[in-house]
Amino acid sequence: MTVCPTCGLPKELCVCESIAKETQKITVYMEKKKFGKKYTVIEGIDKKEINLNQLAKKLKAKLACGGTAKDNVIELQGDHRSKVKSVLVELGFPADNIEIREGMSRT
Ligand SMILES: [Zn+2]
Repeated sequence: MTVCPTCGLPKELCVCESIAKETQKITVYMEKKKFGKKYTVIEGIDKKEINLNQLAKKLKAKLACGGTAKDNVIELQGDHRSKVKSVLVELGFPADNIEIREGMSRT
């Protein structure tokens, strides 16, 4: 059994991550990489509060795409801007805290 280091409850009973989700300010934008590959970048989620690897896994499954979690961002292969917000909301992030940028980069 794993115990949460924040509240001391077993992981099954712990709601720390659910509470933390309410406070994340998420920005989603596109990035073009080598060979014109497009990535949807999800930025602003605190990896100390949210398990990014687990979140990336869920997003990849729901959007049926490849991707990785690294540093403080999640990168998903392809353009998922139209769907990613509803998927994040489904996973417990408030819609008001998710900003989808139109441009290709963070400018
Ligand atoms: Zn906890």
